[in-house]
Amino acid sequence: MCHIVSSFYRELYKKTNQSEKYFETGKNIYRAEKKFNDNLKKDYIDFVKNSYVLDQMKKHERIAKIKIITLGGFVFLALISIIMGALQIKKLNRKNFTDALTLVYNRKYMDFLIEKPLKKPMNAAIVMIDIDYFKNYNDYYGHPAGDIVIKKTADILRKNLRKDDIVIRYGGEEFLLILKNADSEIFKDVYKRIAENLKNENILHEKSPVSDRVTISMGVCFKHFEKTLNLKESIKEADKALYISKENGRNRVTII
Ligand code: GH3
Ligand code: MG
Ligand code: MG
Repeated sequence: MCHIVSSFYRELYKKTNQSEKYFETGKNIYRAEKKFNDNLKKDYIDFVKNSYVLDQMKKHERIAKIKIITLGGFVFLALISIIMGALQIKKLNRKNFTDALTLVYNRKYMDFLIEKPLKKPMNAAIVMIDIDYFKNYNDYYGHPAGDIVIKKTADILRKNLRKDDIVIRYGGEEFLLILKNADSEIFKDVYKRIAENLKNENILHEKSPVSDRVTISMGVCFKHFEKTLNLKESIKEADKALYISKENGRNRVTII
């Protein structure tokens, strides 16, 4: 608007031959236009600069996002592989420590337990169990039928113990029980339950001199363990008790 006014006056000065004013107005117009153009240029340069900075910021933001996503992916994959590895090891250990026929623990697990430090001192009942006249059973009914009896006996033991108790297949038809914090009263209950369940299973054993059904003998001792489950001595004692049960006619328990 100002420029238009100046131009009008400039034209007027030209027509009225006021040369000095005419040139002065011309200079003013030139200065004003230059100033306007300079400002325009500066604004344009600022605009280009800001656009460039904004673009760079967006670019960095995108790169940072990609980096975070990639890093997150790596961390996720690493976590998954660690968890899978741990599960695999646990599975392998479980398989390694499990008896294939009965699915209770095997001797290898017992050896592992003996070495393992206890979290705190504890009392435990150590029980040796042996199926009576089992050789006769195998000879009469056959080895596969004998296997089924071993499996059924293991199932009965497992079902009648508490969650923390341990059943180990110690040998062919022999089992070792570790009943944590069990005193003689608790053990008597456990024995009653196991004997009753085995009786209810009604497994015929026509070649047993003590019963027409499969029976078991037990020997037990009670021990205090301080730092480790040092089972060697207690197994010897429980074995002695089992031997006494056998000597006294089988199908019974002897407590030391
Ligand atoms: P006792 O009452 O004195 O214990 O007599 P027993 O005949 O049970 O004693 P012994 O220890 O002499 O016999 C154990 C038998 O167990 C001998 C063996 O043939 C049998 N046996 C051992 N392991 C297995 C197995 O995995 N499957 C089967 N079917 N039989 C087995
Ligand atoms: Mg035996
Ligand atoms: Mg036997």
